[in-house]
Amino acid sequence: MYDFVIIGGGLAGLTTAILLGKAGGKVLLLEKNQYPFHRVCGEYVSNEVLPFLESIGFYPFQWGAVAINRLLVTTPQGRAIELPLQSGGFGISRYLFDAQLARIAAEHGVEVLQACSVESIEPREGYFKVVANKQRRWNALWVVAAHGKRSALDKSLKRKFLAQRSPYVGVKYHIEIEHKQDLIALHNFEGGYCGISRIEENKSCLCYLVTRQQLKKCGSIEQLERKILHQNPFLREIFSRASRLYSAPKVINEISFATKTVHENGILMCGDAAGMIAPLCGNGMAMAIRSGALLAGLLLQHQAGNISRTEVYQQYALQWRALFARRLWVGRQIQRFFGSTWLTEAFVSFFQTMPWLATWLVRQTHGAPFDRQTYVEDNQQVYQSKLGS
Ligand SMILES: Cc1cc2nc3c(=O)[nH]c(=O)nc-3n(C[C@H](O)[C@H](O)[C@H](O)COP(=O)(O)OP(=O)(O)OC[C@H]3O[C@@H](n4cnc5c(N)ncnc54)[C@H](O)[C@@H]3O)c2cc1C
Repeated sequence: MYDFVIIGGGLAGLTTAILLGKAGGKVLLLEKNQYPFHRVCGEYVSNEVLPFLESIGFYPFQWGAVAINRLLVTTPQGRAIELPLQSGGFGISRYLFDAQLARIAAEHGVEVLQACSVESIEPREGYFKVVANKQRRWNALWVVAAHGKRSALDKSLKRKFLAQRSPYVGVKYHIEIEHKQDLIALHNFEGGYCGISRIEENKSCLCYLVTRQQLKKCGSIEQLERKILHQNPFLREIFSRASRLYSAPKVINEISFATKTVHENGILMCGDAAGMIAPLCGNGMAMAIRSGALLAGLLLQHQAGNISRTEVYQQYALQWRALFARRLWVGRQIQRFFGSTWLTEAFVSFFQTMPWLATWLVRQTHGAPFDRQTYVEDNQQVYQSKLGS
């Protein structure tokens, strides 16, 4: 019997696992893939999580992360606006980031099982049975599902958001190109947008979101890039100069921004599994980490005897909404302006006259910096002394 089984070793699952493991809990983390591995993600991390990462012993700049504090937005017709990013962020690959957090989790006593795909979670009397890879089974008092935006597991859990199909496809490359270090660019094209920013080792991450319809119309990714992305002069120039660092891009389908539930049948959802913000806001990773910290804090409060099981669910739903519901809503509204040529042109022209308003809007999707103390410190001490006695 584990205290906690965590499904999914992305940033949400890893954060939860690290905090619970560090507090002394018996934690098992199950990840479908094997570290290190590439993911479709723009790899720009908002600075709101920097104090937290440092408080758990991960120092991004020691691993070659690049500080980013300016945003460039361009339109398909070549109009451009540059804005300061008030809180800013840094660029680091998920290949490196996730693998390092998995190492830290293991150092804190978390059992990290890789190449382990969870198929079902069965609620029992007072505990859960978790089944993976057809024949492997574990029991746990708590299950945290941090399996990302969409997974076969959602089907097995019969989650309602699956009924809404998502029209987006995500594509990502690592490239080598001369690119301003401290700038993240968001280049728009008909049917989508493409982010580009620096990561470690002089590499850049190029990642775009496009409607499935647009991809279908063009027939292939290569044709899509040639016919549609190249219409934006900034993108045409980038594609002509860049050398790609892996032969085929990473591609994911069915990206959903639908509203989800934060717990179902007693299973606690975390990160994108609880709700995903539009990628152009550039803080899905920060939200995943923050939701992991929030959840770990509440679970530790329960383990310390301060709140009941029911209160964990109630408090998590309440605090999750207070922290993220508005951001997700703002993200969905901003997303509407991108992907349509005339709307993007109108959006950028308008904000060229009022850049302060654009800066304000960007700020609405970001949270204040936090660290481990913010969510867990006191509860960790009470839990540890309980474990000790
Ligand atoms: C195109 C695109 C660009 C983006 N760009 C940015 C950006 O620049 N900045 C930013 O902050 N955010 C960005 N995001 C959002 C960000 O990637 C996510 O919000 C973040 O990764 C969520 O973390 P997570 O831990 O919830 O999920 P994930 O990182 O998706 O991790 C989930 C994990 O669960 C595992 N898993 C899934 N199913 C199972 C199973 N059945 N059993 C075991 N393991 C399982 C997966 O293998 C995965 O490792 C972008 C998203 C997209 C789609």
